[in-house]
Amino acid sequence: MARFIFITGGVVSSLGKGLASAALGALLQARGYSVRLRKLDPYLNVDPGTMSPFEHGEVFVTDDGAETDLDLGHYERFTGVHARGTDSVSSGRIYSTVLEKERRGDYLGKTIQVIPHVTNEIKDFISIGEDEVDFMLCEIGGTVGDIEGLPFFEAIRQFAQDKERGQCIFMHLTLLPYVAASGELKTKPTQHSVKELRSIGIAPDVLVCRSDKPIPEKEREKIALFCNVRKEDVIAAPDLKSIYEAPLAYHREGLDQAVLDAFRISPAPKPNLSRWDDVADRIFNAEGEVRVAIVGKYTQLEDAYKSIAEALTHGGMANRTRVKAEWIDAEIFDKEDPAPYLSGFNAILVPGGFGERGTEGKIRAAQFARERGIPYLGICLGMQMAVIEAARNLAGLKDAGSEEFDHEAGQKRFTPVVYHLKEWVQGNNTIARKVTDDKGGTMRLGAYTAILNEGSKVAKVYNATSIEERHRHRYEVDLSYRDKLEEQGMVFSGMSPDGRLPEIVEIKDHPWFIGVQFHPELKSKPFAPHPLFADFIRAAMEAERLV
Ligand code: GLN
Repeated sequence: MARFIFITGGVVSSLGKGLASAALGALLQARGYSVRLRKLDPYLNVDPGTMSPFEHGEVFVTDDGAETDLDLGHYERFTGVHARGTDSVSSGRIYSTVLEKERRGDYLGKTIQVIPHVTNEIKDFISIGEDEVDFMLCEIGGTVGDIEGLPFFEAIRQFAQDKERGQCIFMHLTLLPYVAASGELKTKPTQHSVKELRSIGIAPDVLVCRSDKPIPEKEREKIALFCNVRKEDVIAAPDLKSIYEAPLAYHREGLDQAVLDAFRISPAPKPNLSRWDDVADRIFNAEGEVRVAIVGKYTQLEDAYKSIAEALTHGGMANRTRVKAEWIDAEIFDKEDPAPYLSGFNAILVPGGFGERGTEGKIRAAQFARERGIPYLGICLGMQMAVIEAARNLAGLKDAGSEEFDHEAGQKRFTPVVYHLKEWVQGNNTIARKVTDDKGGTMRLGAYTAILNEGSKVAKVYNATSIEERHRHRYEVDLSYRDKLEEQGMVFSGMSPDGRLPEIVEIKDHPWFIGVQFHPELKSKPFAPHPLFADFIRAAMEAERLV
């Protein structure tokens, strides 16, 4: 029988609810419990797959091919539990399910209403697989009081009521602003936020209060008194130097103890925090620094490449060094020579992306890395650009390009070295797509196996010849150009099991040049850095020595 922890937020958004949830998950694991984390998002998009990364940050893809909120990335990085499609839901998804059922006649002619039809759908979602874990942590996106969040708040209220007493608790995150004029941390917004929650029938058991100053005893007492919790249930969440400090910091503040107390679990199992001690040691006792240039399109919003930024940090941790990632807008190189911008870096990464804008710049960045012997990691579009670059400048196919850009422009301008993938194999099934298909959820998505050439660089990096990585793309490198490219030293070192889809390319006579069609960053964890990122950073450190 799972216990449920509902995590809500108040006062302002962006308080780090996802991080607090993930850290709590990690702390419960450290006490020997199994956990699963879920995210319920009030927006009306069916999933974040079609949302701009500028708007919403990265789309996190699960093994089972769901396009989900980036908070699921935090959950995985902190707990190592692979998220599933059923760990993320939005209002849009809930409503579309309800409306489909209505059209099918499942409700037998009843009037369909938010309560109970929408709330029931939310409750069903929360309880999927509830018997598999000790604790299910459900984070509600947005802040209390948002109009679109109301059905979710109502659903979790009902859910706790439906369950045995003591099987569900509520944790609420708020802000304690510091007012310099009076030199005080202010508790009033927190009081109001809790009042708002209680007005919809939810009484929080644990309050996590973000503030950039320690909470004085007097304020802690005041919060406890006005918000109807014990003093020990008021947990301070100070700003941290690294997000990976969060489990240790929250443990010090007593978060896991407060949660176990709220469930009346006594005596509480002792925590084993050695994993997080090691993580903190690797972060805070790192030596030196490598600079990695990320040449991409969505550079204004760091969250657009969240998992890449984290995976690079993990790569640094594996080598006990600091990684300084700098974002460079690829469009600059459409016109300008990359040399002055890129020469001070130890390594270059070209991440995934969609659309033609900035691609000529990415191709030039790949060329620069190839010609200068600078470590290069191309991810998804970054691999496709590396292949186009090699096709143009090594194999003499001057007009090499991707069908994606021709489709976008509505005219044929390129020889498609990268073509639109319309049919592929997943396990025992063949999946087919048309150009006219919906935009949402129609890509090659989720975990696929790749077989690596024995003796290749990637086989050495992974120390394996069969790997599983997550995908999210519509276009694919065309095998017809394989021989021409291999003659020039670009090796197709990883293929789909049926040998039809190139998964990895590498350049033979280069210190470290690898392009992958998948997204390795999604599987990296601070306590288990992804081998590609760990080795990329190792190579970058060596490159530094060469300079
Ligand atoms: N736009 C490219 C494709 O659809 C690459 C996608 C990506 O980088 N995730 O194949």
